[in-house]
Amino acid sequence: MVEFTSVVGVPLRYDRATGTSYGGKGLAMKFSAAPQLKTALDKACAELWQRLPEGRPSILLTGGILAEKAGEHAKGAAFDFDGFWHGERRFMADDYPQRKAYYCGIQAVLMKHFGVVINWHWVNRRGQQDHKDHWHIDLSAPIGWRPGGKSCVLCAQTILRDVWGQALTIDGSYGAKTAGAFAAIGIDPKEDWMKFLDRTADRAFGAAPVVADPDKPSAWAAEDWARAEELGLLDGTRPHDTVTREELAVVALRLLDKATPPAG
Ligand SMILES: [Zn+2]
Repeated sequence: MVEFTSVVGVPLRYDRATGTSYGGKGLAMKFSAAPQLKTALDKACAELWQRLPEGRPSILLTGGILAEKAGEHAKGAAFDFDGFWHGERRFMADDYPQRKAYYCGIQAVLMKHFGVVINWHWVNRRGQQDHKDHWHIDLSAPIGWRPGGKSCVLCAQTILRDVWGQALTIDGSYGAKTAGAFAAIGIDPKEDWMKFLDRTADRAFGAAPVVADPDKPSAWAAEDWARAEELGLLDGTRPHDTVTREELAVVALRLLDKATPPAG
């Protein structure tokens, strides 16, 4: 077991103890977890802090890690992700009905680092939705698309409906409708799982939209792009790539040559 009190620079607090309440600021304590859980949690949170439009939170809230219950929690290998605070603003998992896209953005990042993510739509054996107030995440299944895994299908259907606008019933069973929804957004879940999750997080958090055609410049730049090629400054390929230092040197010298009047 490893012990810790924060996750990638953010204080971790327990909000289910006596004297605290769900969605409060929680109780500071020393947490224990299996090393592999902590490693995955660090990676997931590092990415999440970077992607959140508000940046790194001030408090991360958990419903528990090591616990006397069946399954992965008994080994300290599961984490219940309740929510977080940014100063005086907070997001909790049970805000899902009001902030569906944002919820899905967080979920997509968690799914990149954990094979098992159980979300709001999960129904237990007694017919109760007992994960409305947190995501349960663990490593007991490999990361990737599992069409036979109920929690995985539920999460994917949630994203397809709430981020990508596909008409779907979120029931956890993979069939023609879910396959059609993936096809409609140009994703083969088996091949493109990480791409699916990355694009979901981009979209959910409002990052730049994916460029439709990699060989065509954006509309706002088309005129200048054509002119730069005409003048021989650029070769007219790869309009959306970033510039390397050597490319910059070549273009800068071409410009300088054009600006310098011929000697004599
Ligand atoms: Zn759990």
